[in-house]
Amino acid sequence: MPFAAAPQPIETTFTVAREVKVSGMFQMVNRVEKALRDVLGKDQVFARDTIPARYRFDALRPYRAYPGLRRRGYAPKILVRPVTPQEVAGVLRVARRLRIPVVTYGGGTGLMGAAIAVDGGIMVDTSRMNRIENVSTEDMMFNAEPGAVLEDAFLQLDRQQLLFAHDPWTRPIATIGGAISTNSLG
Ligand SMILES: Cc1cc2nc3c(=O)[nH]c(=O)nc-3n(C[C@H](O)[C@H](O)[C@H](O)COP(=O)(O)OP(=O)(O)OC[C@H]3O[C@@H](n4cnc5c(N)ncnc54)[C@H](O)[C@@H]3O)c2cc1C
Repeated sequence: MPFAAAPQPIETTFTVAREVKVSGMFQMVNRVEKALRDVLGKDQVFARDTIPARYRFDALRPYRAYPGLRRRGYAPKILVRPVTPQEVAGVLRVARRLRIPVVTYGGGTGLMGAAIAVDGGIMVDTSRMNRIENVSTEDMMFNAEPGAVLEDAFLQLDRQQLLFAHDPWTRPIATIGGAISTNSLG
């Protein structure tokens, strides 16, 4: 009876393949985590359960989206919080070397799911890069780091009788980098 034992090897092969895949993924995350800690120090690199749940989503929530969007969102494999351009460059060098996708997260108020790490990878949170400097009423310019919150820019400019316009709903959370990226400032 040559057919009697046929289904058994298929199941065994599946189990082994899955274990190899899961263990390979853990090794990869460990490797990326270590490389990023060399760049940023251990306090600004988060992996697995230490990544807060809010980084699984932006404002594109399942109830307002297409059915394929997971209710639990998509967790990045690693979250980093750089503070200098040199640290950002270091993170990107690691990502390039290890061929890991990178997603930048500002305030997470974007409506297109663009700040969600659907492929895992490294998420760069810009919230620690938040300085606003050199407001000039003369040429109506200012310098800001990408994670500066729009409300802070609004208040600083308002004091100098300048209007920094944006949708008021997202202003307390959204960032300069996110606003430029989505062209939400018009
Ligand atoms: C008039 C108007 C139009 C808008 N149009 C859109 C729209 O077309 N699409 C949309 O999604 N939202 C839109 N919005 C919402 C808008 O995205 C948010 O209000 C806000 O500006 C996004 O900022 P955030 O910091 O929350 O960005 P997030 O939601 O964190 O990110 C939004 C996008 O910007 C990228 N990003 C964030 N920071 C950086 C950075 N420093 N460098 C490079 N990329 C970065 C993210 O990866 C993501 O792709 C609009 C709002 C207004 C008022």
